[in-house]
Amino acid sequence: MSDKFIPIKPVNSISSATPKPQLNTPIFFNGQVLDRLKRPLKDLRISVTDRCNFRCTYCMPKEIFDSNYKYLPHSQLLSFEEITRLAKIFVTQGVQKIRLTGGEPLLRKNIEILIDQLSSIKTLDGKNLDLTLTTNGSLLARKARSLKDAGLNRITVSLDGLNDTIFKKMNDVDFAVSQVLEGIEAAKSVGLNPIKVNMVVKKGVNLSEIIPMTDYFLNSGVILRFIEYMDVGATNGWKMDEVVPSSEILKILGSVFELERFETDLTGETATRFQVKSKNGKEGEIGLISSVTQAFCGDCNRARLSTEGQLYLCLFASTGFDLRTLLREGANDQEIKNQIAAIWSTRADQYSMLRSEHAQLPNNGLKRVEMSYIGG
Ligand code: SAM
Ligand code: SF4
Ligand code: SF4
Repeated sequence: MSDKFIPIKPVNSISSATPKPQLNTPIFFNGQVLDRLKRPLKDLRISVTDRCNFRCTYCMPKEIFDSNYKYLPHSQLLSFEEITRLAKIFVTQGVQKIRLTGGEPLLRKNIEILIDQLSSIKTLDGKNLDLTLTTNGSLLARKARSLKDAGLNRITVSLDGLNDTIFKKMNDVDFAVSQVLEGIEAAKSVGLNPIKVNMVVKKGVNLSEIIPMTDYFLNSGVILRFIEYMDVGATNGWKMDEVVPSSEILKILGSVFELERFETDLTGETATRFQVKSKNGKEGEIGLISSVTQAFCGDCNRARLSTEGQLYLCLFASTGFDLRTLLREGANDQEIKNQIAAIWSTRADQYSMLRSEHAQLPNNGLKRVEMSYIGG
């Protein structure tokens, strides 16, 4: 069992010509495994379902994710016990933060049981895990209390505008803004803080929502983050001219608000952060996530575990590594740990950086895995 690893073809995803990654002898620094660009593994995103009740046009377009779309059968999903076991092993490799995602993670039945299991895991230096979850907010009003009670620390909610017509056009299932706002209020009231709100900005669609969203969340403690529309997956028909660069968002914000940049020394941080003040004295924080125009691959410490237990080393990857087979064929924890270290040490991914340097897609035209499958 010990030397076995299985690079896999992600479901609905790649061509059989995908090269098999070579495993290296892992390199460690202060007990932490490093990849080929000397980046440690700190952040694990776990997709708990590939299903969603929204059809955001930039993520799960209706035309593709229709009634004929083949989602994973339940038997292929990692069970909560399998996820928890893997999470514990990842933590022994230096992971300090776990984010549950999807698809829509709150659609996974009894997600609170998983949260409860994960919340007792301690990091290598004996601290509590930073345990968080990203949701579209549709079920949050009714679930916030049970998520908090189960041990979730904080939450990120996605919301692309305050205008119902615009939001409904983006979620494409006629879902109203007010219900997401109720979810955010519920999360606040139970203390899932700091709450972050993710807004994907798409040219010609929700530019007009930048100012109202910023204004709405001032003085609320909620951190609003503007995300550049990315070329993840293979189905959203991404075009560069639909991306609104963060520099443009900053210009729009600067025309109305006073902005001051925060200096942070957190490596692996995805957002550039600003303190915002309005003319009438309201204050807040915003972040810009510029994955397209200012790639942050240099210190990327994130790994992704797909719904069926494939390990992906980059959001834009085409190939994953099959950890579920290791689990189900009886590998022990040490064997799985060795495999994860060996896999991480092969990693040289820097997709966004290469994309910006060469103005072309860097993965040899291979079909990228869908975001709903590996999680955002
Ligand atoms: N369903 C949950 C949600 O929407 O929050 C969690 C999964 S979703 C894939 C995670 C995040 O990815 C969301 O904030 C979403 O807006 C973002 N996202 C999805 N597709 C994107 C794209 N093409 N470009 C930028 N962000 C995207
Ligand atoms: Fe669903 Fe989230 Fe993707 Fe929207 S972004 S379709 S809510 S998984
Ligand atoms: Fe990390 Fe890949 Fe995103 Fe670069 S493109 S920041 S390597 S996930």
